[in-house]
Amino acid sequence: MFKIAVLPGDGIGPEITVQAVRVLEAVGRRYNHQFEFKEGLVGGAALDAMGTPLPAETLELCRTSDAILFGAVGGPKWDGLPLHLRPEAGGILALRKEFGLYANLRPVKVYPSLVGASPLKPELVRGVDIMVLRELTGGLYFGKKYWEPLPEGGFRVVDTLEYTTPEIERILRLAFELASKRRRKVTSVDKANVLGSSRHWREVASAVGEEYPDVELEHMYVDNCAMQLVKNPKQFDVLVTENMFGDILSDQASVLAGSLGMLASASLGSGIGLYEPVHGTAPDIAGKQLANPIAAILSAAMLLRFSLNLAEEADCIERAVAAVLEQGYRTADLMEDGKTRVSTAEMGDRIIEQIESQ
Ligand code: NAD
Repeated sequence: MFKIAVLPGDGIGPEITVQAVRVLEAVGRRYNHQFEFKEGLVGGAALDAMGTPLPAETLELCRTSDAILFGAVGGPKWDGLPLHLRPEAGGILALRKEFGLYANLRPVKVYPSLVGASPLKPELVRGVDIMVLRELTGGLYFGKKYWEPLPEGGFRVVDTLEYTTPEIERILRLAFELASKRRRKVTSVDKANVLGSSRHWREVASAVGEEYPDVELEHMYVDNCAMQLVKNPKQFDVLVTENMFGDILSDQASVLAGSLGMLASASLGSGIGLYEPVHGTAPDIAGKQLANPIAAILSAAMLLRFSLNLAEEADCIERAVAAVLEQGYRTADLMEDGKTRVSTAEMGDRIIEQIESQ
């Protein structure tokens, strides 16, 4: 029995998460696994009901579960609140902190049937399959910060970029582990020509790389990486980098796949993992059954792969998604001439049919 905490959140969160849960149930039936799903309140929904974006009950539910399936949080209703009460900061960021989730995994895979949805030329993106791995807990966002008044007026404003050897080692080790189950290449991205923290990042990457002789290690400067991602994205397998570089490059890479509605993610630490689509709550389409549930469904596949160690079952979901797209079913965000438009729930139905018939 696997216990899964389901935190649907706000906007399209509940609509897409319910499809991911249905897909997991179908996988459970097919492979004889028992999943116990328990829902918790998070984000704006939790603020409205309990006065806090991350109630103690929800935290306790997560602590006693094997994995967290997360929807999305936030929306215009809560935008005016102070930062600690905002659904995003008080919800997802607090969860990352609570469970020490230091690695963010964002696969960017261009499905053959969606090559035309990418803003890049088809020949550049056909076959792209990148795992972007971003360090989540160190770097500029969490280093010492201060404002110092200047005698002549104005301020000196300082953010510091800090990394310790163990912080770099653990994310690099994860990169090599991932690459050893993929195409055996790690691209470690830094700015070692300018930054001391990057020079150490590079040293540690090389040292960890020696433990994985069958995985190729390449170092790349972040500015070159930004260019290479649009010039020749197929060269990348696992791309690993520090927090701020990863924040920027993961968004850049995500555009290759065509729609936000296709992008899954995982946040991992030493214990429980959290799985969520990359997109937000899409208030413009919430409640209309227009949202693409595939990002949430692919996040559920990552949950099977990384938290429950069920690789075959994860493959089954990914194959089902590819087959349904191949058959021409599309939610509104991916609609083009000659395709069959389906609602959020109908996309879930088609994927479940595939899982049952494979
Ligand atoms: P968004 O990702 O919610 O939406 C951007 C655009 O993409 C919108 O036009 C939306 O309709 C579309 N879109 C997003 N997901 C889609 C899907 N599954 N299917 C079809 N179309 C989809 O980003 P935003 O509009 O900048 O943010 C809306 C709210 O979500 C804000 O309150 C923001 O803070 C929050 N947000 C939350 C998270 C999170 O919970 N992790 C992440 C990003 C944004």
